[in-house]
Amino acid sequence: MLSIAFDDFAQTSWTEGGRVLRDHDVRATYYVCGALYGTVFAGQRMYGPGDLEAIHAAGHEIGCHTFDHESCLRRDGHDFERSIERNESFVRERVGDVPLVSFAYPYGDATIGAKRLAVRRFGCARGVIAGLNRRRLDLGQLKAVGLEESKTRIEAVEPYLDRAASSGAWLIVFTHDVQDRPSAYGCRPRDLDRLIRSARSARLEVLSVREALAARAGAPGGISA
Ligand SMILES: [Zn+2]
Repeated sequence: MLSIAFDDFAQTSWTEGGRVLRDHDVRATYYVCGALYGTVFAGQRMYGPGDLEAIHAAGHEIGCHTFDHESCLRRDGHDFERSIERNESFVRERVGDVPLVSFAYPYGDATIGAKRLAVRRFGCARGVIAGLNRRRLDLGQLKAVGLEESKTRIEAVEPYLDRAASSGAWLIVFTHDVQDRPSAYGCRPRDLDRLIRSARSARLEVLSVREALAARAGAPGGISA
């Protein structure tokens, strides 16, 4: 399986990225931070009025990325949990009572305490450690590969697709903005298009994180935490 994720999230990941997803009839996971609503963050315009509602209506998953995008290394456990709760309220106010199943650690930072909290509150939590999620996986630290202009471009991500297909693993690919001239952390619409095409050529199913988690849980010999 392949899951595609957008962190924070930049408006172009919906306006541009969402168009590519729609063309392929694919659902992705948008890890939202309430505090970034309507702001410019890391040089990118973030999602704004109506975007979260539209993403939800299109069947994409909304994941939690804390409210204020602070690393758990920089705050105590209580503050970290409050930031998660505040984010859940933020999402609920916009799209109703949708359970948030998937969590992503800001900056990929995960302390033991943060992992414990994330596993208690969510179905799974994701970092930024590159790799595949095989049958025995860590639901408190799912691996993920960044499709990012400055680090891992599409050519470097494709080998992971082949390895996931040959080993029956689950690959999560995350990115940020999606535009023809992406930031260091983003990708182009055509990269996203190629990712989905390559995944399908490799016979991978493309599912949101929540859908993939459910599929693995239901698979014979499937996941246990
Ligand atoms: Zn982030």
